[in-house]
Amino acid sequence: MTRAVRVGSARIGGGAPITVQSMTNTDTRDWESTSLQIRALADAGCDIVRVSVYDDECVKASRAIIDASPVPLVADVHFRTDLAIGAIESGFAKLRINPGNIGGEANVRRVADCAKAHGVPIRVGVNSGSLEKAMLAKHGRPTPEALAESALSSARTLERAGFDQIVIAAKSNNTADTICAYRLLSKWCDYPLHLGVTEAGLPEDGVVKSAAAIGALLADGIGDTLRVSLSGDPVPEAETGIRILRALGLRGGLDIIACPTCGRACMDVASVAARVKAALAAPRFAHIAPNGPDGLFKVAVMGCVVNGPGEAREADIGVAGAPDGAALFVKGESPVPVRGDPAQALIDAIERRWGEPGSHPRETILKYARG
Ligand code: SF4
Repeated sequence: MTRAVRVGSARIGGGAPITVQSMTNTDTRDWESTSLQIRALADAGCDIVRVSVYDDECVKASRAIIDASPVPLVADVHFRTDLAIGAIESGFAKLRINPGNIGGEANVRRVADCAKAHGVPIRVGVNSGSLEKAMLAKHGRPTPEALAESALSSARTLERAGFDQIVIAAKSNNTADTICAYRLLSKWCDYPLHLGVTEAGLPEDGVVKSAAAIGALLADGIGDTLRVSLSGDPVPEAETGIRILRALGLRGGLDIIACPTCGRACMDVASVAARVKAALAAPRFAHIAPNGPDGLFKVAVMGCVVNGPGEAREADIGVAGAPDGAALFVKGESPVPVRGDPAQALIDAIERRWGEPGSHPRETILKYARG
């Protein structure tokens, strides 16, 4: 197990639930826009948000941003020791630096001393695009070995400064190299690992690259926190990170099991699944699929009797299409025939069994269901 570090109200490592991170892309000096984006990320389920601190104006804006934030914030600082110290003193819960560009061992020690005095951990982040020249010369390119060696070397620099509240990242833009680099780090040290594929690209590609690398590592028990890097709005980064965790059973929530359909399908599976998913987004059902590590609420929507009854019976609730209608399964009990709209039958059954009476009128749920 990795060591644990505390990041404000969150914990990374030591067996704590995997946290999802993202990063603002507003101008940090504009504290209102930055705070709004942090709020949007927190509303999407992001646990920790990183903010670039790149000049004195950013440091000045930091206090207002930190005061307004519902989640712990990380200051991302490069090149200037005074900004790193200013960020820590402003109240950031964590610092991300690259010790290789912060100005030599004496300056690393100053930053480490300040972080230690404030109880702030430091992430050393190595990226394939900013690997130091010596490491490139030794390995020829940003290989997994080069990334892991560089990251560990950065951690050793902090250790020499008497600092051990360290989180490590070694990200490549190459999915396979990322997996290999983190596998090496997990063998070489017990510091908590921050997973991610760097510069993963536009969402349609970046989601797949990130899921492949982060998913492979998490499935092996490697990784303590993650960030999905996508070009554009950061909210999908957080949503994707949560979906990766959910896919591996590492975070609770709604799990829709829906078949791809084929010529045997007896109902419009995609439409039924989408309507049920939308209905369950209503606040009335928030307690059913909590956004925490409390397990999944499984809803099966299956097109026919080939795999339908089996999947529907194993889910919390499910519906399987049949030539004369559909069959509804609740908690594996005997199926109930459905003659009308299968989506409505599912929603009504969920409401009867799991809805919170009186909290929202039935019309609200139906409105969600109809989109
Ligand atoms: S459950 Fe039935 S409809 Fe769905 S993919 Fe399988 S065989 Fe086709």
